[in-house]
Amino acid sequence: MKAALLRELQKPLVIEEVPDPVPAYGEALIKVKAVGICHSDLEIIDGKIPPAKLPIILGHEVAGVVESVGDGVKHLKPGDKVALSWLWWTCGRCKPCLSGRENICENQLNTGYVVDGGYAELVKAPATHLIKIPEGVSFPEATSATDAVATPYRSLTYASKVVPGDLVSVFGVGGLGHNAVQVAKALGAKVVAVDILESKLEFAKEVGADYTVNASKEDPVKYIKNLGGADVAVTPVESLKAMRQAYDSLRAGGTLVLVGLPVGELSLPVIDWILKDVKVVGNIGFTRGDIMRSLELVAAGMVRPRVELFKFEEVNAAIEKLRRGEVKGRAVLTF
Ligand SMILES: [Zn+2]
Ligand SMILES: [Zn+2]
Repeated sequence: MKAALLRELQKPLVIEEVPDPVPAYGEALIKVKAVGICHSDLEIIDGKIPPAKLPIILGHEVAGVVESVGDGVKHLKPGDKVALSWLWWTCGRCKPCLSGRENICENQLNTGYVVDGGYAELVKAPATHLIKIPEGVSFPEATSATDAVATPYRSLTYASKVVPGDLVSVFGVGGLGHNAVQVAKALGAKVVAVDILESKLEFAKEVGADYTVNASKEDPVKYIKNLGGADVAVTPVESLKAMRQAYDSLRAGGTLVLVGLPVGELSLPVIDWILKDVKVVGNIGFTRGDIMRSLELVAAGMVRPRVELFKFEEVNAAIEKLRRGEVKGRAVLTF
């Protein structure tokens, strides 16, 4: 099969012919139809979070069709449409797994990081960790549901328990942020989107934001406070400054969900934090349940992930475009 390999950190991927993976007991082989390019792939390429092995095939937002199954697989058959996420395998026996928090499974194996992922014509994975794609969801949309929808879904449900009528602020309207706007709307919230690019704010309006603030021209804290303050703020952005603004824009009793991964430390005023009875929580990833529900939201038309399609062969050009911040929604490779 053809695959894009990361052979050396900080270098372009190399498209090569490699042996087809063979599904072992309990595994399925997937013919990849689409694969999303995630910001964390850039971090792996750059060596900020080094992969377990080199060379490796990246790509953990996979949608495709079951090609074949190994022994012991009963619930999937060739032709089934499935999605594979970052959670290539979780143990199902550690404390987080047994508490419905497999996103922080202590023994997890990650797609396109520890094991080969979907920047390839074929990928194999445990059948238990493949999620069926419902009718009406395209392969590129399904790739977004595995992460770019599922992460904000978890941030706005499990991590902050948004209820109808809440004011939700979304800092950063990128691949995750534009879906965060839509998930918040689906939960019955009013949404204020914050970015520093006018084009991203237009995009936020297109996908349903009630209010937009250009933080390069206007103080988002003042703007959001004028609306009464946010009940929940999410920060899918690599900016400590935006995270602090998100905190400052909360109303008393609000929740700040940290999602982006800026390097450094976030400084918060402790007395204010306590007196406002505010929660500050981190959210890494999602569970398979979050992905299933994200796919259902997409199937119902309540969330429409925006994607920009690239041919598989254009992988390096797509990565560069993502680096420049020029991709509207999620960059997705198709086969
Ligand atoms: Zn991802
Ligand atoms: Zn576990």
